[in-house]
Amino acid sequence: MDPVLSVVIPVYNEDAGLGALFARLYPALDALAVPYEIIFVDDGSRDRSAALLKDQYLARPDVTRVVVFTVNRGQHTAIIAGFERVRGQRVVTLDADLQNPPEEIGRLLAAMDAGHDYVGGVRRSREDVWWRRVASRAMNRLRERITHIRMTDQGCMLRAYSRAIVDAVAASREVSTYIPALAYTYAHAPTEVEVAHAERAAGESKYSLYKLIRLNFDLVTGFSLVPLQLFSLFGMFVAAASSLLYAAVVVQRLFTGHGWAALWDRDILEFFLIGVVLFGVGLVGEYVGRIYMQVRNRPRYTLQALLERDPAPAGTRAESEVP
Ligand code: UDP
Ligand code: MG
Repeated sequence: MDPVLSVVIPVYNEDAGLGALFARLYPALDALAVPYEIIFVDDGSRDRSAALLKDQYLARPDVTRVVVFTVNRGQHTAIIAGFERVRGQRVVTLDADLQNPPEEIGRLLAAMDAGHDYVGGVRRSREDVWWRRVASRAMNRLRERITHIRMTDQGCMLRAYSRAIVDAVAASREVSTYIPALAYTYAHAPTEVEVAHAERAAGESKYSLYKLIRLNFDLVTGFSLVPLQLFSLFGMFVAAASSLLYAAVVVQRLFTGHGWAALWDRDILEFFLIGVVLFGVGLVGEYVGRIYMQVRNRPRYTLQALLERDPAPAGTRAESEVP
């Protein structure tokens, strides 16, 4: 019998906290009294995570499935690998570090009962370092302006999706993407609920400042052409302004023999424009890079192991996987 609820959890070097996760997750799901499955996706961990997941599979093979990547492909790719295999009609994503309390899953499901097909978690009080909070508030605001995606808390991974949305995300074949945003574009009745947030139970964050910046570039360039469009508008504006200025200087010279062109300090102006141009080239590079990754069409991930009791029937294997 297929489960009703599928819980997808990406795991990357989390051996210090997995025991605590198992101890809370299974009772929390048992308490919901709906048939469920948990799909752990080991994202190429270098610690003992994969071994711990295997033990857990052996302990609860009835509700546990484990996907093990060959190498690290990133949290969102790990979630996609889970999405490609879900059997439930409702899918919940969760972090492995217990920052998202598994006891809150019931609240997400209640919102789905009320007719929503996408339920985003909003962290009631966010337990992260201050610069993460400031940076994500700024990114939230930028994203709201240049995409159609409305999310109060884009960084919260405790979310529930209908199976239709999950299938659409899995079929999207995007290389670097941001699941909550991509899923949002397929939702017809999205909503949000407040959920608790805790400090990491064990281990450390896998996101450095650099990785966060990368992630936010994916979030912006993956969902909007506005940055490129702004750039061409700005280019037009600069071109128009400089030709007007040039005309004004020519006219002034004609009548007075000298002009105020020197007022425009050329060096400063050039510095500024070179900066703008470099940023623009880099921005174009972001898009070209995405196109390049996409046309190479390599598998998004490769598998080292797949632990599940009833393997999928032949011919239904997930698309991104290579034997
Ligand atoms: N994660 C992953 N692959 C990665 C980085 C992270 O699967 O390359 C997982 C990680 O194990 C955790 C979740 O994604 O379950 C969120 O990561 P983390 O807690 O480090 O992020 P933060 O909470 O600091 O944003
Ligand atoms: Mg975390």
